[in-house]
Amino acid sequence: MDQDGILQVDRTQGVIDPIGEPSVERMHRKSTQAVTASTDETEYVIAWGRIVPFILLHLACGFVFVVGCSPAALIGLVVTFLLREFGLTAFYHRYFSHRAFKTSRWFQFVGACLGSAAIQRGPLWWAAHHRDHHRHSDHDGDVHSPHQHGFLWSHMGWFLTEKNYRTDYSKVKDFSRFPELVLLNRYDFTGPVLFGILVYGIGWWVGYAVPSTGTSGWQMLVWAFVVSTILLYHVTYAINSLAHTWGSRRFATDDDSRNNVWLALAAGGEGWHNNHHRFPASARQGVYWWEFDTTYYVLVVLSWFGVVWGLRQVPREILVEGRAGTLRERYRSAGNSADEASAPANG
Ligand SMILES: [Zn+2]
Ligand SMILES: [Zn+2]
Repeated sequence: MDQDGILQVDRTQGVIDPIGEPSVERMHRKSTQAVTASTDETEYVIAWGRIVPFILLHLACGFVFVVGCSPAALIGLVVTFLLREFGLTAFYHRYFSHRAFKTSRWFQFVGACLGSAAIQRGPLWWAAHHRDHHRHSDHDGDVHSPHQHGFLWSHMGWFLTEKNYRTDYSKVKDFSRFPELVLLNRYDFTGPVLFGILVYGIGWWVGYAVPSTGTSGWQMLVWAFVVSTILLYHVTYAINSLAHTWGSRRFATDDDSRNNVWLALAAGGEGWHNNHHRFPASARQGVYWWEFDTTYYVLVVLSWFGVVWGLRQVPREILVEGRAGTLRERYRSAGNSADEASAPANG
């Protein structure tokens, strides 16, 4: 067990569980716990009063017809999408949820601010819920399993409820000891507001300094803040919904996680979700050289400058297991049964 009791090595499975629950226990649960729909109706009560900004932000995409478009606005869209996506994939997910690498206190705050600009609430809220996802993946207690609650709920219903608004700090004790992170988590609107002002300011300045760009503060705000945020929303949500329903399964994990090349493209490497569920503590989710993982590549570059370090890798035995699993998948997709499939894979 490491210093905070978060990472445990399960020697019987060769697995590092990022959330402290031995994998043997999870494997046992697979055979004893049926995948059933939840019966707690209170968890489906939407907090309509709270989600007005979420609805308005979607509707605000219509302003693209008012402000028009320009190459500068589209560049703004791409840059703000990629930057904030990295904040989510590298920091909210791989760092705060799984501690897949190490960094300094100041840079973890930079990453937290970057992630918070994506308007997906605070880093501790995000990590606490995500650790729960890995504890209960596609079983009772997984609040965004498409198999437990349906596709739409897993995509964009679960986080709109009163029940899931609160942060359970007991699940992120390791990061709750940093007051700046607790503050950012508590006042999670701060990042988005400052980010919106920055985007507007840049658009106004570019339009003023280089009038030929044809952009403005409002145009940049609509494209690089509103549209960019909505796109990022649905790419992120797709990892909860599509990455548990659409794709291939190299590893026989006790959930229904999938590897999906399209999601990997859109979500900075996070589409290798079956790989991720097999070994969540890894800094890379594309585990073979052909599985591109842009988040990991950027982390590697940052490690050259000493900004991040200790990037966790997938153990060799899991890579071997994965190759066997790939053969099994190919055999199965060629029309053979799963039972038969284990023969050539192990042989
Ligand atoms: Zn998952
Ligand atoms: Zn994860």
